[in-house]
Amino acid sequence: MHPQLALALEPVLRDLRATGGPLPRVVPSDWPGDGGVAGAMLWHSDGSGSGISVVLDRPAAEQVAHVTDVVHDWVVEELWGTAPTNWPPCPGHPESHPLEVRRSGDAVEWVCPADGTAVRRVGDLG
Ligand SMILES: [Zn+2]
Repeated sequence: MHPQLALALEPVLRDLRATGGPLPRVVPSDWPGDGGVAGAMLWHSDGSGSGISVVLDRPAAEQVAHVTDVVHDWVVEELWGTAPTNWPPCPGHPESHPLEVRRSGDAVEWVCPADGTAVRRVGDLG
């Protein structure tokens, strides 16, 4: 896998491991076939896959925010129908909604979508 994509994926995969969330099988891919982009496929347990990529040489925080968002969508789809889909649960509203990803400058954080509270940095959920 391209090192920039691996680096960008690391924080959200760490959060999934730390919280017992589902882990995608990540397979490097030529998709989307553009020299300025590094891509991979995220495979679901049911055999379907979705693409993930980073635009090379963009700021690390931008890459992390983007791939965390894509992995987050993957997690919700993976859990759909078998488990509650609110990963990661919002500590203030655990029954209502998951946290969502927000980038502010160099920081990429999990925030409450209702009140905007930053809960943890992505990669620090453990
Ligand atoms: Zn909340």
